[in-house]
Amino acid sequence: MKAIKVNAKDNVAVVIAPAKKGEELEGFGITLLDDVPQGHKAALVPLKKGDAVTRYGVTLGYMMVDVEPGNWINEHMIELPPSPVVADLKCGKKGYYPEENPERNTWMGYDNGPGKYAGTRNILGISTTVQCCAGVLRYATEKIKKEILPKYPNVDDVDALIHPYGCGVAINAPDAVIPIRSVRNIARNPNFGGELMFVSLGCEKLSLDKVLDPEEINDENVVVLQECQGFTGMVDAICNMAEKKLKILNERKRTRLPLSKLCVGTQCGGSDAFSGLSANPSIGYAFDLLAKGGATCMFSEVTEVRDGVHIIADRCQDEASVEKLKKEISWYDNYLAKASVDRSANPTPGNKKGGLSNIVEKACGSIAKSGNSPIMQILGPAELPTRSGMTFAATPASDIVCGPTQVASGITIQVFSTGRGTPYSLKEVPVIKLCTRHDIKVQWPDLFDIDTGDVLTGEKTIQEFGHQLYNLILDVAEGKKPCAEKLGIYNDLIVDNPAPIT
Ligand code: CA
Repeated sequence: MKAIKVNAKDNVAVVIAPAKKGEELEGFGITLLDDVPQGHKAALVPLKKGDAVTRYGVTLGYMMVDVEPGNWINEHMIELPPSPVVADLKCGKKGYYPEENPERNTWMGYDNGPGKYAGTRNILGISTTVQCCAGVLRYATEKIKKEILPKYPNVDDVDALIHPYGCGVAINAPDAVIPIRSVRNIARNPNFGGELMFVSLGCEKLSLDKVLDPEEINDENVVVLQECQGFTGMVDAICNMAEKKLKILNERKRTRLPLSKLCVGTQCGGSDAFSGLSANPSIGYAFDLLAKGGATCMFSEVTEVRDGVHIIADRCQDEASVEKLKKEISWYDNYLAKASVDRSANPTPGNKKGGLSNIVEKACGSIAKSGNSPIMQILGPAELPTRSGMTFAATPASDIVCGPTQVASGITIQVFSTGRGTPYSLKEVPVIKLCTRHDIKVQWPDLFDIDTGDVLTGEKTIQEFGHQLYNLILDVAEGKKPCAEKLGIYNDLIVDNPAPIT
């Protein structure tokens, strides 16, 4: 049985397939004393109660029982180590780029002018201030796509930006800044080409002045349903405004641009023990190449990285970034404490079935998506980057919330890795999907763009997959459709709302 030990310090190895008691661990001279499920850990040395379990060279926790070499180590046997203390985080100014420079360092995209990221798609985004408008806007959008969009062939799509926020909420609560900023900045995503269009009900708490500047609130950009004559009047008003916007967007053309015009995000979902071995380090290498070339690369998921946050601080380049990191992590700690939950609320039962014992193991695997680059900036949820390079944007780890929050921060492509499998995708930006192992690719052949399982079998390296992904990211940025976009499957736009619903 092939098993992977990541770091020389590790005292466990992960089996790459379901293993039976009595099988030999190749290269370790150890016979398994238990059946070990795929992706789970086997002890390489005798471990006594209280001994540290080490993977990625990091302490995952402490043994609660004694085991012998070849025993299965499951989550019930490991006690969590104390979480890194936020106040102790230090700015290490570390991080490094790969030595090589990739050949491609430009791409064809939709320029949005100086100081702005360019679009990878040319989409009309129609925003809403409140969920009450959803039914009417969905109806109107279908009509626009059927009757008007075909006249404007340079426009890729019409996207109704329907989210659950907007009314029945504590709009003045301090944390309401997050959903408000999300709605405001999603409308300004580079893939929408700066064309603002809002459908409002008229009496909602998320009033137009919270998401638009005073000069943007006018008949060119806003349809208020309570000012329309009946359902027909509402649909007509939306269609008429959409056609004007489509005319403008139709004039946009792709031009050759530097990598500094590209903003790419990543997250993982449905992770397993292989995420941190194959798919995530491959993303990390592609992101290192992009960051070195001047692109902005964003990783997130606070609860997933929480127990590896000292690694992020160590790669920050200035004290201000570490202070910001401390602020964002403390905010999240308090948010969880308010609900009397802690970090053990993550991982999910599926993660555990896949072999991830606890959040420390998940954190190391999750952070691998950010490669080794210096971290140039820390953002709060839905904030906009002001520097290029590797960026940590503090969002929830929940796939369906992290995605839209990164869209608000300006990503125009997302790279998503999964081990257990999820059909997750976004409509606002194309999503490239990576899987960690061959069997999930066999099960879902049409849902994954890259299967990094060859890393586990030793047939291909992380660097080779990193290059393949780097090229695919640029191809997709230039218009190539990844699997999920071809299939037309999308998740809903769930805006992060940590403030009370009333
Ligand atoms: Ca996630």
